[in-house]
Amino acid sequence: MAARVVPQKIVKNLRFQKSTKPLTSSHPATAAVAATLLEKQPPRATTPPPPPSQSFSSLDLNNAEKLFSTVSTSTLIRSSAVLHATAIGPMVDVGIWALQSRLLQKGIMKDAVMAVTKKTFFEHFCAGEDAVAAGRSIRSVNDAGLRGMLVYGVEDAHDNDGCDRNLNGFLHTVDVSKSLPPSSVSFVIVKITAICPMALLERMSDLLRWQQKDPSFVLPWKQDSLPIFSESSPLYHTQTKPEPLTQQEEHDLQLTNQRLQQLCHKCVESNKPLLVDAEHTTVQPAIDYFTYSSAIVHNKDDNPIVFGTIQTYLKDSKERLFLATQAADKIGIPMGFKLVRGAYMSMESKIAESFGYGSPIHDTIQDTHNNFNDCSSFLLEKVANGRGSVVLATHNIESGKLATAKAYEIGVGKVNHKLEFAQLCGMSDALSFGLSNAGFRVSKYMPFGPVEMVMPYLLRRAEENRGLLAASGFDRQLIRKELGRRIKAAIF
Ligand SMILES: Cc1cc2nc3c(=O)[nH]c(=O)nc-3n(C[C@H](O)[C@H](O)[C@H](O)COP(=O)(O)OP(=O)(O)OC[C@H]3O[C@@H](n4cnc5c(N)ncnc54)[C@H](O)[C@@H]3O)c2cc1C
Repeated sequence: MAARVVPQKIVKNLRFQKSTKPLTSSHPATAAVAATLLEKQPPRATTPPPPPSQSFSSLDLNNAEKLFSTVSTSTLIRSSAVLHATAIGPMVDVGIWALQSRLLQKGIMKDAVMAVTKKTFFEHFCAGEDAVAAGRSIRSVNDAGLRGMLVYGVEDAHDNDGCDRNLNGFLHTVDVSKSLPPSSVSFVIVKITAICPMALLERMSDLLRWQQKDPSFVLPWKQDSLPIFSESSPLYHTQTKPEPLTQQEEHDLQLTNQRLQQLCHKCVESNKPLLVDAEHTTVQPAIDYFTYSSAIVHNKDDNPIVFGTIQTYLKDSKERLFLATQAADKIGIPMGFKLVRGAYMSMESKIAESFGYGSPIHDTIQDTHNNFNDCSSFLLEKVANGRGSVVLATHNIESGKLATAKAYEIGVGKVNHKLEFAQLCGMSDALSFGLSNAGFRVSKYMPFGPVEMVMPYLLRRAEENRGLLAASGFDRQLIRKELGRRIKAAIF
């Protein structure tokens, strides 16, 4: 059976070693500035503000007793069981088959599969079945010193009605985030694939790719944007010159723009950053287009509202990141980026193969690791020396260590809030708590929605955690160590 990452009753008791020195000084000038700053502070959240730089300690991920000190033994056992189960490849295969099988999609069998999924995968990887439950989960996580990324778990939409329904869900998510303690929700997440019909995203991506091949190709609907491609970007998806958008498609594009602007305006009003997730390369150019054109409108001063996502497993990602940040600097907007490795690896290989091309993903996993770390270092330097923010979304311990070392060195992420680490709900809790204990801001990515709705997300998590060498290995090892210690302590 699964346990939520940080069960409510347990997180309530979690202890954190953050020191929160008051902002005071004996020097009159400094004291006056401090007093003014304190006056301007928003109402205090349940979470203490990030500690001043001198209270930062190094990232300690070895002390399992400290990391899990307030987690009950029964919860550790349940978490261990879930993570071990997902590490057994054949078991995951059977689970994925059961979730996808048509035989099990009707009547009593379907109810049984859904009930089992809910009590296992769903409760472990998701924040609840609706926004209210997700709000409760966010409060719990926040009590533990972490923050939450509120994720309405819808994925692809195929018509305008579906897009409108999904938009209402995203708008409601912003309302829920406003009802929670101010610092507890770090970001509201949006999937452009849920507010723009998929077929249109594919068409727009084709047209954008063709314009990259032939700059004289005019796209009348295209607004100001940052660069979406680099010279090395693969364009094989678009083999022949695409037809211009039809009137109906242009109309749907306008509707999508309106939906996105409505969401952006609500985020601006609530001062809640909006983080756009990245998908597979068939539609990613259009997603980047929407992200960048909205960022140009809404990202002001040093307050990025619209954040994009860069998937560093793609060979062209570093160049694209460089070009986009350079262009953002040139037009004077602060840009926010989330860095991930990427979750559509097998799909990308299949798509490329179907066109007779090699995968757009780095040839070796080490190349992906190097690229993630290079991009992370580049963005940390960038935000340290200028405007913008970075979210490092990773479960990789080495990447976490490298990024914290760099952040200490250049003074990012301490009091300036330009750096957020993030892990998925149900994954890499040890890293989340370790980073938080070291004084960094850390978020959990917390999807919510009915079990059936979040199924594609759950299938990706099952796939990702398959195998003994999966990301959960480090947590499994630490939990086992702590359970062993507790058993010994009880016996002797
Ligand atoms: C907060 C958050 C938000 C996310 N948002 C998105 C999103 O918007 N879009 C998205 O696509 N993903 C997203 N992800 C998922 C992320 O891409 C996966 O978690 C990622 O695949 C695991 O990478 P990791 O950094 O945790 O590193 P690790 O745990 O080290 O993972 C390594 C994984 O990288 C993959 N990999 C990459 N390149 C290679 C290669 N060349 N050869 C072999 N394996 C390779 C493998 O699957 C391997 O398991 C998000 C993750 C988090 C934590």
